[in-house]
Amino acid sequence: DLTTLAHTELSTRLAVLHDEHGRLKDRGLSLNLTRGKPAAEQLELSRPLLSLPGPDGHTAQDGTDGRNYGGLQGLPELRAAFSGPLQVPVDQLVAFGNSSLELMYECVVDAVLFGLPGAPAPWPREGRTAMLCPVPGYDRHFALCEKLGIDMIPVPMTADGPDMDEVERLVAEERVKGIWCVPKYSNPTGVCYAPETVRRLAAMETAAPDFRVFWDNAYAVHHVGEGAPLADVLSLSAEHGHPDRVFVFGSTSKITMAGSGVAFFGSSPANVSWLLGHFSKRTIGPDKINQLRHARFLPDAAAVRAHMERHAELLRPKFELIDAVLEKRLGDAGVASWTRPQGGYFVSLDVLDGCAARVVELAGDAGIALTPAGATFPHGKDPRDRNIRLAPSYPGLAEVGDAVEGLALCVELAAVERLLEAGRAA
Ligand code: PMP
Repeated sequence: DLTTLAHTELSTRLAVLHDEHGRLKDRGLSLNLTRGKPAAEQLELSRPLLSLPGPDGHTAQDGTDGRNYGGLQGLPELRAAFSGPLQVPVDQLVAFGNSSLELMYECVVDAVLFGLPGAPAPWPREGRTAMLCPVPGYDRHFALCEKLGIDMIPVPMTADGPDMDEVERLVAEERVKGIWCVPKYSNPTGVCYAPETVRRLAAMETAAPDFRVFWDNAYAVHHVGEGAPLADVLSLSAEHGHPDRVFVFGSTSKITMAGSGVAFFGSSPANVSWLLGHFSKRTIGPDKINQLRHARFLPDAAAVRAHMERHAELLRPKFELIDAVLEKRLGDAGVASWTRPQGGYFVSLDVLDGCAARVVELAGDAGIALTPAGATFPHGKDPRDRNIRLAPSYPGLAEVGDAVEGLALCVELAAVERLLEAGRAA
């Protein structure tokens, strides 16, 4: 355990690690663990999409000609296939566009410009508004709030989801209008919300009558281990008398092709007509040919499950390798802890307080690109400067191994530097 070493032992260790870091730099590596993109082999799994729906395949089950305008809510057969995985009844599910992030953006913009069902007014007319942000969390949720002028209130994540005592305390403020949730294999912690967390989110009383849970179920079917069940937040909210509380989001970005998948929105009938009402002024309908293509390739929930098992086979070794390398190099060092997610795209690494930015710098010097320290917090500021998000999906297995070996060295080096500094200050 590095934290128990005496000053002289730390100095010796520092010299060894510096040498090792120098040799790492000399290797001229160019590795990248930054963005959660599917690898080329994962995209290959969906190659059949490129020849679907085929020259004669433009007619949907209900006779709709996919080539023409219309069908704002999206193709029923595709919505049926994703209704189970996303836990939304078919008639309350919308299939639209290729990006769920875009749908989240649209919902917030419409809340700001027009107001939500059950709302006294558009959000800003009541003064500044805020959203709860479980941290560490997804940087693009935070960037969206920042862009649209919505304050962010961090809430700590626990192993069961956001700290619900804190959430229940904060929603007593009327300016708090929503919460970002990635309920399954959360980005970046891999946490799956416990049934009691979901129940409390559905049941809690909020001061804002138009409070919304932004349920970004981006990794609904993205298991690498045993699939974890998730409580049905939409039904629970309705049962607890808050039928309009939840906006469910999802997409096939990490199921089929990240750049040309299909996105989904699910909610109460009132919220669905609210959103479609706004869509109807923007477009005459979504790309139904892409939806047909997806419906033919993934006709039901069983097909989705089988397809995701093939993704898991490609991703599992990468997650296992990260854990093995970190365990080997840092298991006894007392200066790092990390997650062992059962799904999703990320590993969350916590280093010694005050060291994350330095680790990212040291790794960058050695040609290993890491997500900037702080990215998992609102405004890019991690108050403890300790969290680093690792995204192992895109590089090959050997590169993941090399990158994490190098990273582990940087974690140890930054920790020894820090401990020596702390010793001098004491
Ligand atoms: N939500 C989360 C939690 C994500 O991790 C990602 C992708 N990194 C997205 C949304 C983006 O989804 P989409 O491609 O559907 O816009």
